[in-house]
Formats: sequence, structure tokens, C-alpha cells
Amino acid sequence: MEKKKELGLYIHIPFCERKCNYCDFLSAAADEGTKAAYVEALIKEISSYRYLAAEYRISTIFMGGGTPSTLTEEELVRIMESVKKVFQIEDCYLSGEKAFKGLPMEGYIEATIEVNPGTVSKDKLHRLKAAGLNRISMGLQSTDNKDLKLLGRIHTYETFLDTYKAAREAGFENINIDLMSALPWQSLQNWMEVLENVISLRPEHISAYSLIIEEGTPFYEKYSEVSFDDELDRTMYWNTVERLKAAGYGHYEISNYALKNRECRHNISYWIRKNYLGLGLGASSLIENKRFHNEENLKKYLEQAGVADSLQKEVELLDKKQQMEEFMFLGLRLMKGISSAEFQKFFGSTIESIYSLPIEQSVREGLLSEENGQISLTAKGIDLSNTVMARFLL
Ligand code: SF4
Repeated sequence: MEKKKELGLYIHIPFCERKCNYCDFLSAAADEGTKAAYVEALIKEISSYRYLAAEYRISTIFMGGGTPSTLTEEELVRIMESVKKVFQIEDCYLSGEKAFKGLPMEGYIEATIEVNPGTVSKDKLHRLKAAGLNRISMGLQSTDNKDLKLLGRIHTYETFLDTYKAAREAGFENINIDLMSALPWQSLQNWMEVLENVISLRPEHISAYSLIIEEGTPFYEKYSEVSFDDELDRTMYWNTVERLKAAGYGHYEISNYALKNRECRHNISYWIRKNYLGLGLGASSLIENKRFHNEENLKKYLEQAGVADSLQKEVELLDKKQQMEEFMFLGLRLMKGISSAEFQKFFGSTIESIYSLPIEQSVREGLLSEENGQISLTAKGIDLSNTVMARFLL
């Protein structure tokens, strides 16, 4: 029997206890009734994709938000159960973490849930693990309570430590911690202290992004006029790379670091353009070069969830030019860069025949390096990554 194709599953839970001061994600506070109605709609939406299950098997799941852990454990388990009912999950589903003990990664699922500190008990985490989730991504952002307060986070560092300990006790052996640097009031020393605190906990994965002040957020009102010192931002970034590498974390994507074999497979699938299906409010999908996103209005989503086609917005079948552009600017986010041989395999043309000018110019300016058929960003290229990526738009 022919093996089914891989499909990543993203499940969006758009609820948070309250909005953080910098956040422009599709998320809001909601009452229990709304959350329950959302779970019903989501389950309907999952069932409506039964036809895809004939062709695809699930290789990664990412339950993100919002704060998925604000749902009850019963609701979260029901969502996982309905996924299992509809789709074939990779082998060894419930023991995915064994994959990290020297066994090949192929054939094991990675199933992540985003958890905010203080929103889960040890019991709840046990049940989530039993339901098949084997990776936790925790939004910490800072270990300094003053930062957390100014960011509008719902937790303190101490709350985070309790949740982190509970996750370890519940048996989670694959944990990511999200951090945020370049806070308007932050010094290099403050940031490096945050990083040291996190390194001492030994999470398997660390994501460290610079804060971006988004329009429409309380931070925009307050800080849009005060631009963060670009040189300090870059110093923070390169000190982070250096310190995390010294601590044994591989720098595998511009802002992501992992211990060996603990890179986030789900996120990598976005950067290498594998097929993924987004479920839930506003979630994005890429299936066989068809890009679309779901309805973003909660009321409409709740009304239409059983009919996948009516939820899909801005459906676009990417032409070859668009696919090539995405291949370049998404692939270059990875530190190993993109492979000329893969480009040729996907598109039937050599990379030089399409992109010789931007590649030559970027190599000449020290922004890209080319070695053994791999093209990747140099350190200078990382600092100027937006300029480099823009050169690959055809
Ligand atoms: S917890 Fe995350 S999604 Fe929710 S408001 Fe804060 S930053 Fe936004």
C-alpha cells in the first residue's frame, strides 16, 4: 500500500485570559459558553476534512493561540480525540518522545501545545500527555517580573517556574520557552540575565524574538515614537547566538535554538513549504500550493464551521513564480539555507537560471554564502535579512 503524504496540523485556539500590551494576534478573552461553542465548531471543522485523510497522514500537530491551555482539559482532550478519529496519525503516536532517544525522527509525531504559565495544573498536564501531546511551548518572554508587568503578562516568573516544574513532573521531555528581547526599557545586561536564567533550566528549545511594536496595540500608543536602538538590538541578538551556542543549543533558524534533535519539526515544515492544514479561527493553510486562511470573524466561524469550503478565504493557487519566491525567502530563514539541487528538483530549472543576479550580488556584498550547493545567510545577511529576502521577489 502506498504511504500517505505528510500533513502538519495547526489548531488555533483564539482565547486568552486577557490581552497582553504588545499583542496583535487573533486572540481575545471569552466566557466559558463561547469557548464551548468554539470547541464544538472546531470538531465539526476537523470532521469536514475527512476527505483529506484518504491522502494524508498527520506528522506534526501544533495547538497554538491565543492560549490553548485556557480551554478545560476535557475540551482539549476532545479536540485531540476528534483529530485521531478523522486522521491517521504517524506510528508511535503516544510515545513520540522516544524519537529523541536516538531513534530516527521519521515516523514519529511531534504534537505541541502552547501553554501559558499558571493556566495548567500537573493533573491537567498529565491528561494532555495521555491524549498524545508530547511537546509544550511556554510563553515566558522574560524572567524579570518588572518586564512581565509592563508587557501585561498574566504571570510572574515564579508562576512560570511552578508550571515548568509541573510539566517536567508530568513527563514532558520536550519543552520550548519563548523569550522576547529589545523591550523599550531593557538593557543588554537585563536581557543576558534573562537568558542565563532560562539556560539554567535546560529547556530543549528556545525561541528568542525582538519585540515588534504593532499598530493597534497599547504599546503602539506608548512606544511607537521611541524606536529601539538598532545597534543594541543587534548586540542583544549576537550575544544570544553566542551564549546559546556555548550552552549547547544549535542555532537552526534566525530566532530559534534547540538541543540536538529537538528542532521544532512543525515550524520547520512552514519554512520548507510542506503541506499543512490550519484549523480554527483565521488559521492559514498550504496544501499542494494552495494557500488560504479561515474566516477571522468568530461569529461567522461558529456559524459555518461544518462547511470547510465556506470558511476558506483568499484561496490562491500559487504559480511557479510565487512558489520559487517562497522557497527562497522562507528557506533562507533556516541557518542551513536552501539547496540548489532541491530547487532544481522542485522547479525543473537551475537556481542560477532564475536567481543568478540576486545571488551573485548578495554573495559579493557578503550577505549570502554558497558552499557545496547550499546557499545561506551570512552573519551580515542575518542583520539585513529583509533586504536579502526582498531580492528574491521576481
Ligand atoms: S498570551 Fe499570547 S496570544 Fe494571548 S494576548 Fe498574550 S501574547 Fe497575545
